[in-house]
Formats: sequence, structure tokens, C-alpha cells
Amino acid sequence: MNKRNYMREMEEILKSLDSDRYKPPLLLHVCCAPCASGCLNLLIPYFDITAFFYNPNMDTLEEYKRRANEFERFVREADLPIKTIIRQHESHKFYEFCRGLEDEPEGGRRCFKCYELRLRETAKFGSENDFAYYSTTLTLSPYKNAEVINQLGERLGVMHGIKWLPSDFKKKDGFKKSTEVSREYGLYRQNYCGCVYSKGGDIA
Ligand code: SF4
Repeated sequence: MNKRNYMREMEEILKSLDSDRYKPPLLLHVCCAPCASGCLNLLIPYFDITAFFYNPNMDTLEEYKRRANEFERFVREADLPIKTIIRQHESHKFYEFCRGLEDEPEGGRRCFKCYELRLRETAKFGSENDFAYYSTTLTLSPYKNAEVINQLGERLGVMHGIKWLPSDFKKKDGFKKSTEVSREYGLYRQNYCGCVYSKGGDIA
């Protein structure tokens, strides 16, 4: 079976929008500043964007605040025309949602649940607040499973009544560009994915 090309699917949707006349509201889940730096410039010409920082997987409140503050600093210094929402840290939800999967390897079933938790809240908030689309910066990382993220995004979008914007932001040098922008703004590039189980593992 042919694998879907989510980057191409996103481009088809962007092409179909009449963004000179109207930019539909997009709720974009943001995991961190470096990943957002590789996605926002691509989307800003087409959407009225609200960034949604919601990552209950972070191992400490200090790390949560550090990534959230770094993202807000990037938006300010790059003068990006977007709104931002920083949600409270709800680490108990991550531990409840991923219970029993603590020993899974990075990139395995615990990570799929971790994507789901973040996308579920984004879809719910987006639907309740009249966003036309929702999406995530998570597909920028070469360590994350874009196929699983897009399938979850579609399913949760149907469940909550909001359109999913497919993506595979790492494609077309997206990841490389994000490292260049991160360097330009001196962004904090964390050396672990975020949860306590990922310490000492891949950057993910
Ligand atoms: S390794 Fe990353 S994606 Fe996987 S559960 Fe931990 S924080 Fe979530």
C-alpha cells in the first residue's frame, strides 16, 4: 500500500485556501520553540494562527516553564503575527494516560499515547472555540512518527468536529531550516524529549 504524503496533502489544502480574502483560524499545538520555528513561517501566510502550548508530558514544572517562556520569547523577537495560549502544566494527566507503558522504548506505544493526550486537548479546545482547523508542530521532529500523529489528528478531529490540517513539517528541509532559525535566535534546544522516561534518550 502506498504511504500517504502528508506534506503534499497539506500543500493541497493551502493551495485551495483564498487567503488573500480570508485566513481561517488555526489552533496549532506547539511542543517547543525549535519545532515551532520550522512550522510557523510556512503557515502564517494562510491562517489566523493561535499557538497552543500544552505538554503535560514535561517531567518538571521548571522544564515546562522554560520551554513555554522560550517559545514566547521567540514569538516576540521574531515579531510573529500570532496569538499564544500557554496552558497550565497538568503532569498528572500524562501519568494517568500512560500508566502501564512506563517501560516502553522511546518511539513506542507510550509516545503514541503522549501524542494523543496533547492532540485530544487541542482538538477539544479548538472545537469549543470555533477554530476551523487544528494541527501540531510535532511532525517537525525526525524522531516522531508522522503517520501515527496524522492518523490520530484525523480521528480526533472527526470526534470533536474540527478539521485536521495534515503535516509532515520535517520534509522539504523543514527540520534543517528549524535548526538554522533556532541558531539565529539562540533558542534553547533541549537534549531530551520531555518526559522523565526520555531522560538520557533521543532528542525526539
Ligand atoms: S519520549 Fe517524548 S513523545 Fe514519548 S512519551 Fe516521552 S515525552 Fe512523550
